[in-house]
Amino acid sequence: MGKKADKELIIGGIRTDQRLPDQMRDVEMEVGVITSSNGSAKVSFGKTTAIASVHGPRSLFPKFLQESTTGIMRCRYNMAPFSVDDRKSPGPDRRSTELSKVIRQSFQPTLMLEDYPKATVDTFIEVIEADGSTRVTGINALSLALASAGIPMKDLVAACSVGKIDDTLIVDLNGLEDNNSESDVAVAMMPRKNIVTLLQMDGVLTKEEFMTLLNTAKKSCNKIFEQQQATLMEKYKGDE
Ligand code: UDP
Repeated sequence: MGKKADKELIIGGIRTDQRLPDQMRDVEMEVGVITSSNGSAKVSFGKTTAIASVHGPRSLFPKFLQESTTGIMRCRYNMAPFSVDDRKSPGPDRRSTELSKVIRQSFQPTLMLEDYPKATVDTFIEVIEADGSTRVTGINALSLALASAGIPMKDLVAACSVGKIDDTLIVDLNGLEDNNSESDVAVAMMPRKNIVTLLQMDGVLTKEEFMTLLNTAKKSCNKIFEQQQATLMEKYKGDE
C-alpha cells in the first residue's frame, strides 16, 4: 500500500481482471442467510464474500456497560482462517480489532437506539473469502442485516473502496490491486443524507485527486445503495 505497483496492473485502460477503472466487480446481495439471528445478509464483491449477523436488541451484561439513555451497538469483524490463500491465524489481531471499531463507528450516525436503553445490538461480520475490500464488503452486508433485523436507522450505509494505480483512479480494489496501489481509500456513507461515516486512507493523494476520488466513491456508494434497496424490497415485498 502507498507504493508504485511492481507490475503493470492497468494496460490500455483495462485492469488485470478485465474491468474498467470505475467498474465494480459483480456484486451479489442476499438477506436472511442465518435463520437463528435477528437479521443477516451475505454480500459478495467478486471473490470477496462477507456474512453479517445481527443479534438484539437484547439486555447488555455486565451491567456496568449499560447506558441508561440509549442502547449500544457492538461489532466484531473476523476473517476466517480459510478466507485467504495463506491461512490466516485464527482469532483476533490488531487489524481485526481496528476494523471492528471503525465499522462500529461507521454505523453510529445512522442508528437510533434511544428506544433501547441498557440494551445492546451485537453484530458480527465473518469474511469467508477475501480478495480485497473486505471491510467495505462487510459494511454493506451489515447494513442489510441491521435493516432486516428491524433496527431503526436514519439511512442505510453503503461502502466502497477507491484507489490509485499509475495515476488512474480505480473503484473496488481486488487483493492484487490493494497490495500494489499507490493509495487506497475506504469510504462508507449514508447515501440519502450524503453523510460520510467512514474514511480511511493509505498512501498519498493531492487535494484535487482526493476530491475526485471522493466523488467517484460517492457515485459507487449510490449504485450499491440502489442494489441494497432492491435486495430489501425483493425480500420483503408483500410483507406489511
Ligand atoms: N489480507 C490477507 N491476509 C490478512 C489480511 C488481509 O491476505 O491477514 C488480504 C485480503 O485479501 C484483504 C486485503 O489483503 O482483502 C487487503 O486488506 P486490508 O487490511 O487493506 O483491508 P480490506 O481492503 O480487506 O478492507
